[in-house]
Amino acid sequence: MLYKMKRNLNQKLINLIEYYNLININLLLSKKPIKRTDSIKTLGNAFSGTKAEKLKQLKQEIKAVKNCDLKKNATNMVFADGNINSKIMIIGEGPGANEDAEGKPFVGRAGKLLDKMLTAINLDRTKVYISNVVNYRPPENRKPTEIEIERYLPFLKSHIEIIKPKILVLLGSTALNTLIGNEEVISKARGKWIQKEIGNAKPWIIASFHPAFLMRQPEQKKLAWIDLKMIREKYKILNT
Ligand code: URA
Repeated sequence: MLYKMKRNLNQKLINLIEYYNLININLLLSKKPIKRTDSIKTLGNAFSGTKAEKLKQLKQEIKAVKNCDLKKNATNMVFADGNINSKIMIIGEGPGANEDAEGKPFVGRAGKLLDKMLTAINLDRTKVYISNVVNYRPPENRKPTEIEIERYLPFLKSHIEIIKPKILVLLGSTALNTLIGNEEVISKARGKWIQKEIGNAKPWIIASFHPAFLMRQPEQKKLAWIDLKMIREKYKILNT
């Protein structure tokens, strides 16, 4: 009798937890306002010429940013890496120490894991294009602040407009919250396709775990693998 009551109670508790997860209770109870980054515009028609020329102009615009502590404390600007004609653009959070030293995204430990993940679906840096939400390293590898994100967002959106990828991969919650909305939780939003206009681009977007997170939580790699296979399938469809 007591055992049965306990079992029922446990099941109710499990159901309640699952329900809370489903409705994202943390978000409902949070007092944080929902922030929509959609209102932040791209730089519009500020760039002209070929794709490479537009990217060069964008780089110059970012170099000209004033009063930015990230920039003041950084060694190098980290703009992008990969194939500018790729159909896949990958967005991370921001440069770390290795990226800051080399001026290239994802060259440290997380980058090595990203390369392995790409290899697993027959991709590499000659076939994808990689950038970040912010172009300068946040000190101590902290997350970029909302002000920093908003400062670099017009550049990021313009970057996406210029590359015009068919597939946009958002790695981690910073990229997800920046481009989709801050009410999204990466564990719930990952592994789902949405199509969204970003300036004059309208890529298929998928979020997945950041490789740095996967290094801390390797048991989540099985979910990341599902996302990678979804990317491989979509790439196949869009490439044919
Ligand atoms: N993490 C990121 O989000 N971006 C990088 O470029 C490197 C590590």
